[in-house]
Amino acid sequence: DKFQVLVCGGGNGAHVMAGLAAAKPDIEARVLTLFADEADQWSESLKTNDLTVLVKGSDGQPDTAIKSKPSMVSKKPEEVVPGCKMIIIVVPAFAHNLYLEAIKPYVDPKCIILGVPGPSFDHAVRGILGEKADTVFIFETLPWACRIKEYGKEVEVLGSKETVLVAIQGSLSTAPIGPMGKSPVETLQYVLGAAPVLHLAGHPLCITLMATPTLHSAIMYGTWTNWDGKPLDKIPLFYQGVNETTAQLISDLSDENLKVTKGIKRKRPDVDLSQVKHVYDWFMTRYTNDVQDKSSLKTVLQTNNAYAGLKHSMLEVEPGKFVPDFSHRYISEDIPFGLVVTRGVAEVAGIETPIMDKILLWAQEKLGKEFLVNGKMQGKDIYSTQCPQAYGLKTLDEVLGH
Ligand code: NAD
Repeated sequence: DKFQVLVCGGGNGAHVMAGLAAAKPDIEARVLTLFADEADQWSESLKTNDLTVLVKGSDGQPDTAIKSKPSMVSKKPEEVVPGCKMIIIVVPAFAHNLYLEAIKPYVDPKCIILGVPGPSFDHAVRGILGEKADTVFIFETLPWACRIKEYGKEVEVLGSKETVLVAIQGSLSTAPIGPMGKSPVETLQYVLGAAPVLHLAGHPLCITLMATPTLHSAIMYGTWTNWDGKPLDKIPLFYQGVNETTAQLISDLSDENLKVTKGIKRKRPDVDLSQVKHVYDWFMTRYTNDVQDKSSLKTVLQTNNAYAGLKHSMLEVEPGKFVPDFSHRYISEDIPFGLVVTRGVAEVAGIETPIMDKILLWAQEKLGKEFLVNGKMQGKDIYSTQCPQAYGLKTLDEVLGH
């Protein structure tokens, strides 16, 4: 009896996840993709081809081709959801709700629901599945840089993260599952292989409160809030271009996340938020070998080899003239699935967040959206975010899931 896993999504990450899961002899991997004609295209390809995950070798090592066949690819949840003990949703966060609504009528009440990437995915699961949400499992980020080469047939993994923070909550968090007898986290490690190494982060809120979306939002605000609207001749560096004021803002925003963390811990000492770190400390654990000058947050950002040469996303309005692209995911995803969520959690916990508010008010105007209105998360666009208010989670217990 194989362990039945459903991968939801039809993009780059979904291809890799489905391919790696299907390659395991004790796992049956199915795919649900609701978008356009992806299910038909993928099914058609599987009639004559395997799905190949091509993992590019690093440091001169040869590439590895992992070939497998998902058992079914469908756009009909009723065909693929029943019987699955683990559902892995691998889509951009804006499509989480769509998949959760689609699986809801068919999902086994003892199912593990995993979001990749999934900061604040737990709010969506509890908000939409309600009583049917047993165990929710989240990854802070997609484990790979990856790209489909040929739809349904081949996907290339250009690189893997070294480590990924994960969190799991619910009755099956540590239970042995499937014929492998491994816990859910061990099962995912088994599917992924050696890299990335999964690190448990305590309560899922830890991942929401951790650094990256916060970092991107603060850099965008710091860089562009005083911009005069005139096109620039040069595209500024994203991290290396951070000045003293922006570095201070990033640090202050990170302190505000810690203030939210402490406020919640005071009310709910049983909730494990011990892994929430200041952004400087986060860099010291993540990028210790890449950073040349560790003396301050500014020098850390300016001298991190992993960030060398990365630029702002800009639009060329005329030859050699650039304006910032405020539709880039550092704003369009990191605000609704980052800062909006943290701000919403802080509101439920009764903690004031003047710095978040300042950045959010600026960013929502750039996005042409309303999230924060009259000091509350009540704008008309909150329903396209994963803040607790979007799902009617009103108390700290509802937000924390117990
Ligand atoms: P992707 O770009 O491949 O996602 C596209 C897929 O999402 C489509 O194939 C479709 O299945 C689904 N989709 C798109 N629009 C939809 C809609 N309107 N309704 C329903 N479904 C829709 O995504 P990915 O590359 O797998 O990345 C997943 C997430 O990870 C994203 O948030 C991305 O920003 C992030 N990420 C990706 C990479 C990477 O290398 N691919 C790296 C870092 C982070």
